[in-house]
Amino acid sequence: MNGAPLGATLAASVLAGFLATAASCVPPGGAPPPGESDTFRARRHTLVDAIAASGVRDSATLAAMRAVPRHEFVRRQDRPNAYEDRPLPIGDGQTISQPFVVAFMTEAVRPRPSMKVLEIGTGSGYQAAVLAEIGCRVYTIEIIRSLADSARARLERLGYRGVEVRHGDGYRGWPQVAPFDAILLTAAPDSMPSALVEQLAPGGRIVAPIGAEDGVQSLVLAEKDAAGRVSTRHLLPVRFVPMRKGLR
Ligand code: SAH
Repeated sequence: MNGAPLGATLAASVLAGFLATAASCVPPGGAPPPGESDTFRARRHTLVDAIAASGVRDSATLAAMRAVPRHEFVRRQDRPNAYEDRPLPIGDGQTISQPFVVAFMTEAVRPRPSMKVLEIGTGSGYQAAVLAEIGCRVYTIEIIRSLADSARARLERLGYRGVEVRHGDGYRGWPQVAPFDAILLTAAPDSMPSALVEQLAPGGRIVAPIGAEDGVQSLVLAEKDAAGRVSTRHLLPVRFVPMRKGLR
């Protein structure tokens, strides 16, 4: 289970209970993504309406969630479930995070166009696509080579140009590109990796699930002020896959 708030089943049923209005939102121009169907688009908009109703307010985040075709980031047999608010398997024992958690984490870093963002844990590439849709320059690191390769190919096929995918160990960050305006961890380390804090720009934000593998983790927001001082606070109890040590 990855990217799910504590008690995924409970949370899922709570979220399912949110009133999803059938708003008619027109996508912001351009042709629909390849393989897009009206059904998928309608379900996606209903899902994002529910996410907005549950408290995510950032308009850039919500617009990106309305635009990115999540069904393209899951296995073919899971496509009918792509717009349910839950994590789904993506192979190699990993999962694509729950949409609410993706939206919540995206909003937490206050994404803006042309911001330089580092993601640890590329997985399917979905979170990276949401950030790229907002106009961020995205650098994303995945420790499992097969996932890095397939995410890179998928993002290219879907036309997400502003994303660089690297097969590597996220604990080290990406020093050649640092500093970053924002860093998102989508796998959980025991404690905040110091290299990532060092690679955060003054004024930048890190959002990360921190805690033991078998327990509940704390989704933490760390902010670095202009003087380089870091303050952290707890946002949400969550359950993510562990951040691994050592390349595969
Ligand atoms: N953000 C992804 C979901 C991530 S699942 C999406 O949108 O689909 C967490 C991912 O973190 C997994 O793919 C896992 O292989 C990766 N991961 C685990 N430990 C890592 C590490 N040390 N460095 C980079 N990636 C890691």
